[in-house]
Amino acid sequence: MRPMSEKFIPEHIDPFRYAEQGLSLDGIVKVSEMQRLGANIADHDAIVTAKLQFGRDEQQITFLHGHLETSLNLRCQRCMEPFVYEIISDFSLGIVNTLDEANALPERYEPAMAVEGSLALRDLIEDEILLNLPIIPRHEPEDCKVKLPVADSGEKEGKGANPFQILESLKEKRN
Ligand SMILES: [Zn+2]
Repeated sequence: MRPMSEKFIPEHIDPFRYAEQGLSLDGIVKVSEMQRLGANIADHDAIVTAKLQFGRDEQQITFLHGHLETSLNLRCQRCMEPFVYEIISDFSLGIVNTLDEANALPERYEPAMAVEGSLALRDLIEDEILLNLPIIPRHEPEDCKVKLPVADSGEKEGKGANPFQILESLKEKRN
């Protein structure tokens, strides 16, 4: 059971006002309200818990430090059975109004665009979750009902020339 006090993260806020006041938001977002994410998820009762801290740094950049946690039921693309996938994500966004401002951000911030002074928080959270999803959801091989043929394991090993070996053979030729 979740505590009754659990609040929903608002859909839009004014990030500049939040930053000026150094406000933070703790709350949840329902996965069922995330339309882009929905297609990937086997269980739509899931929630994302979010902690969002707004502020302005010494360079006068409006930032959002976020922490997200969720546990999603994904469908394994090998055996088609659901499995639990945990996501814990920390991110730092620099809030900007224009592309020029986005390009000028220091590397520690990912840009987040405010539209007419408003930031789409739930969209941002959905973006972060999507970034943290596996490209192809799959069980770990030992947990999957579909057993891989032996040839599939150990791929990417022993392929490509070892640069040191090349050096060795060059030296040998010179001798
Ligand atoms: Zn599987």
